[in-house]
Amino acid sequence: YHAKQKGNHYLFFNDSMNEQAVKRLQIENLMRYGLKEDHFVVYYQPKMNIKTGELVGMEALVRFITPKKGVISPGVFIPIAEETGQIIEIGEVVLDKACQDVKRWIDKGLFNGRVAVNLSAKQFSLPDLTTRIDIILQKNQLPSYFLELEITEGTVMDDPKEAISIMRSLSARGIHLAMDDFGTGYSSLAYLKQFPLNTLKVDKAFIDDMGNERGKNMVDSIVTIAHNLDLHVVAEGVENEVQLSILEELNCQTVQGYYYSKPLSSSEFEQFLKQHIPSDKPNLQLVQ
Ligand code: C2E
Ligand code: MG
Ligand code: MG
Ligand code: MG
Repeated sequence: YHAKQKGNHYLFFNDSMNEQAVKRLQIENLMRYGLKEDHFVVYYQPKMNIKTGELVGMEALVRFITPKKGVISPGVFIPIAEETGQIIEIGEVVLDKACQDVKRWIDKGLFNGRVAVNLSAKQFSLPDLTTRIDIILQKNQLPSYFLELEITEGTVMDDPKEAISIMRSLSARGIHLAMDDFGTGYSSLAYLKQFPLNTLKVDKAFIDDMGNERGKNMVDSIVTIAHNLDLHVVAEGVENEVQLSILEELNCQTVQGYYYSKPLSSSEFEQFLKQHIPSDKPNLQLVQ
């Protein structure tokens, strides 16, 4: 153990705690610098209609590309950014870039659906959240009905009553709301019914477990609950044809995963769009 004196306090570290603390601080500094130098980039992963093979939408996923440390995974920096509060600024950069890209794809006639952007708990509870979103949409001249926000159970279950009112104000603007990683948190069915959600995203862990009968029944039940509540269902992390055919059998309409595509850079995704130009019939998900 090392003891460090900080004012009147002694802080005790063992080597591994110290190493962790140093790494965190390093990432915090990299993020501060990265925000200034524009090192946060947005990738997109398509969401596909299982039956028609058509593109329904996409999820914006942040990538942190540093010149010195290479690509740092969201699994590493997002939790730290949540703690330091940097996630607020990072989240707004992602939203801004996603709106800008989607606006361009709509104007080029390549896309006519919604882009889903992840919203962290810290962002969700900002008192001026809706104003901040309005400003970014306006700046990019993107109508709010092209936007979907993904929130997790943890975000809304902290204070469900307050969450309902925030969700209502987003929903009233025409923004769609998706419950991300569904089944991994602690949301109660009683609240699930009250939340003004449009979509439920079934976590990859459940998709991975569909190989056995109980796992398959579990996904069957989740899809049924979602449909009974009039929610769309998106299966996350679909990697192979076996999973795809089980999901089709279970009436899950939309899938996202490596089977169709990994998250792509904005220029790669534009190529993907060119190969999946929407048919001229109206996009039902958008109209409703
Ligand atoms: P998420 O929102 O549940 O996003 C899905 C994650 O699953 C993404 O990881 C995606 O790359 C990965 N994935 C998709 N299909 C497959 C598959 O078939 N196989 C496997 N193994 N993985 C698949 P990613 O991009 O590393 O992001 C991880 C998490 O970080 C996200 O989970 C989300 O919670 C968070 N995140 C990413 N971007 C943002 C952001 O802009 N803001 C916030 N607040 N969180 C973000
Ligand atoms: Mg998500
Ligand atoms: Mg997810
Ligand atoms: Mg997930």
